[in-house]
Amino acid sequence: MIILKTREEIELAREAALSVSKTLGVIAKEIKPGVTSLYLDKLAEEYIRDNGGVPAFKGYGDKRNPFPATLCMSLNSAVVHGVPNDRPLEEGDIISVDCGIIKNGYVGDHAYTFAVGEISPTVKKLLDVTKECLYIGIEQFKQGNRIGDIGFAIQQHAEKHGYGVVRELCGHGVGKHLHEEPEVPNYGKRGTGPMIKDGMVIAIEPMINMGTRNIRQLKDGWTILTADGKPSAHFEHDVAQIDGKPEILSTFKYIEEALGI
Ligand code: MG
Ligand code: MG
Repeated sequence: MIILKTREEIELAREAALSVSKTLGVIAKEIKPGVTSLYLDKLAEEYIRDNGGVPAFKGYGDKRNPFPATLCMSLNSAVVHGVPNDRPLEEGDIISVDCGIIKNGYVGDHAYTFAVGEISPTVKKLLDVTKECLYIGIEQFKQGNRIGDIGFAIQQHAEKHGYGVVRELCGHGVGKHLHEEPEVPNYGKRGTGPMIKDGMVIAIEPMINMGTRNIRQLKDGWTILTADGKPSAHFEHDVAQIDGKPEILSTFKYIEEALGI
C-alpha cells in the first residue's frame, strides 16, 4: 500500500531529508586521497547523533547480517551498499555515498557520487549523466503521470550515452519506513505503474553503470558490484508530490558549497 503523507508529515520528511543533505555536506569537505571510508563513516555517525538523528542504515536488514555502518560507501565498480573499510581513497577514484537518517520518526535517504581529486573525463561524464538522469526522472514525478514514466525517462537518457541501467535495485517510497511502496525502477515503460498522487514521497535514485547493466554481490552479503568491473554512479533525492508537482525535499546545496561547484 502506498502511504500518502499530509503536508505536516511532508515537513517532517523534509527535516529528515535535510539532515542527510547536511551530513553529506560534512562528508564532502573530507573526501580526498588518503582518507578512509571508515573514517568518513565515523564522522557521519557522530554528526548525525550530535544533531538529534539516528543512522537509518546501521543494523538494517537481515538480523544475521545487518548493515554494519552509517553510510553505504561504494567505490568505483561498487554500485551501492558498499561497506566502509580502511582502504585509503586514491586520486581518480569515485565513491558513492548513501546516507539514511531517522528524525522525528521520518526517514531521509539520499546519495551523491563524489570524485576523489582529479578523475578521468570518461568517468566525469558518467557522474554528470547520472546526475542528469536523477533530475530528468524527478521532472516526470507529476500529476497525470505514472511511476513508470520516471524510469522510462531515466533509462532513455542513460542508454542514449551507452550506459547500463541497473535493474535489480530501484527507488522507493519513503516515510516512517526507509523502504515503502511504490518501487521506483530506473527503467520501464511509459504509462505503466501506480498513478502519481499528491502526498506521495519517494526516493528517486538512478544507479548507472558505465558498461553492462549486470551486477554481482560480494561475499559480505551487501556490496553490489558491476559484473564487468567498470565504474558505476548513484545520485538520489527524496521528492514529495505537492499540488501536482514534484518538490525535492533533500538538497545538494551543502555538498556543492563544500566542493565549490
Ligand atoms: Mg539511499
Ligand atoms: Mg534509497
